Amino acid sequence: MRSMHKGYEKSIANYQEALKLIPGGVNSPVRAFKSVRMNPVFIAEGKGSRVVDVDGNEYIDYIGSWGPLILGHAHPKVVRRVQETAAKGTSFGAPTELETQMARMVVERMPSVEIVRMVNSGTEATMSALRLARAYTKRRKILKFEGSYHGHSDSLLIKAGSGVATLGLPDSPGVLEQTAQHTLAVPYNDLESVKLAFEKYGEDIAAVIVEPVAGNMGVVPPQPGFLEGLREITEQYGTVLIFDEVMTGFRVDYYSAQGKYQVTPDLTTMGKVIGGGLPVGAYGGKKEIMDLIAPSGPVYQAGTLSGNPIAMAAGIATLEEMTPAAYEELEQKGRRLEEGFRENAEKAGIPHHINRVGSMVCLFFTGEKVISYDQAKQSDLERFAQYFRFMLEQGILLPPSQFEGMFVSTAHTDEDIERTIEANRYALEQLVK
Ligand code: PMP
Repeated sequence: MRSMHKGYEKSIANYQEALKLIPGGVNSPVRAFKSVRMNPVFIAEGKGSRVVDVDGNEYIDYIGSWGPLILGHAHPKVVRRVQETAAKGTSFGAPTELETQMARMVVERMPSVEIVRMVNSGTEATMSALRLARAYTKRRKILKFEGSYHGHSDSLLIKAGSGVATLGLPDSPGVLEQTAQHTLAVPYNDLESVKLAFEKYGEDIAAVIVEPVAGNMGVVPPQPGFLEGLREITEQYGTVLIFDEVMTGFRVDYYSAQGKYQVTPDLTTMGKVIGGGLPVGAYGGKKEIMDLIAPSGPVYQAGTLSGNPIAMAAGIATLEEMTPAAYEELEQKGRRLEEGFRENAEKAGIPHHINRVGSMVCLFFTGEKVISYDQAKQSDLERFAQYFRFMLEQGILLPPSQFEGMFVSTAHTDEDIERTIEANRYALEQLVK
């Protein structure tokens, strides 16, 4: 037998209870495992690269809390810092030194960020950045890319990716038409469409918001010239360029995606890694724009728990560990996974396309290249669902959707990576049986 899987009995019982009390049994849609057509596994604990479910099954985890856990689960330094900080009080609603320390680290590592405001989630970060861009430009419209997800604020729930893509909701009920009409969505990596949108609406476009590496339609890197083209056209029209680095920030490079691709946005939104697994978001950028935010300016934005000391402590401890050498290590591990998967897929004769940027890896079940959401959607979703379940049975927990990337952490050992490649080989062979 290939695995000692103990079944899902307790997870199923947990889920049934949760369904009575929580919408869909989960507090965020993708956790329900809908697109892989099984009940979700309930996690009991995690350590390093591993998580253990309530039935006692251990998995090598590639969800990594959807990005934050770049050091793996319960990293000793993060846990210690969280404990020490919590023991001194969990929240004050008055400023602390930790917030300035965090801001300094962000400014050092995000080339375009001169000044930064902490919030509590990526959604808050992007929502606030849009408000700011609209206030700064005195314009109404924003331009985003199909299949990109920027959180669930009304203006951004238009042609979104991730859970929305997985559930097949093109828009969400409850978002007013009047709001949606000011959001333009064009295909990712398609500068011609961006130009056409600007020719038509350019004078009224407050912001272009882009994931510099798309991570919510699977992983889709920017084509050469795409980000540069966005910078050029937004400069030409006086539009604010926002890089949504909630996922890529502090993950794809020591200097994030803007450092990796050497393109300087006006504003940047952040989250995930800077919270070290606690609820955090942030937005920052040019001082001239950021100074419009209250209390230095008239654009209102606030938060009872913003800059929370425990969250700051977890984030600071995480960033301290993420040295340039740690990014090099992630690059090597990511590359090995990519190569192993490709070799296996070729041998099994499975149509595939693998996209990877550093530690973000995605195996698409399509033989065509994937540079846009339409192409990502060509993937064989039924095949992905089967693949996911074969991997799970072998003790590998993947993000439960074709439209999400795997997150490699520094806690993944070379042995973990080899085991994952071996499981992938077996799973792909089963798919063509
Ligand atoms: N922007 C991007 C690029 C994201 O990937 C996400 C979450 N996956 C968000 C924004 C929203 O962040 P949060 O879930 O913390 O609200």
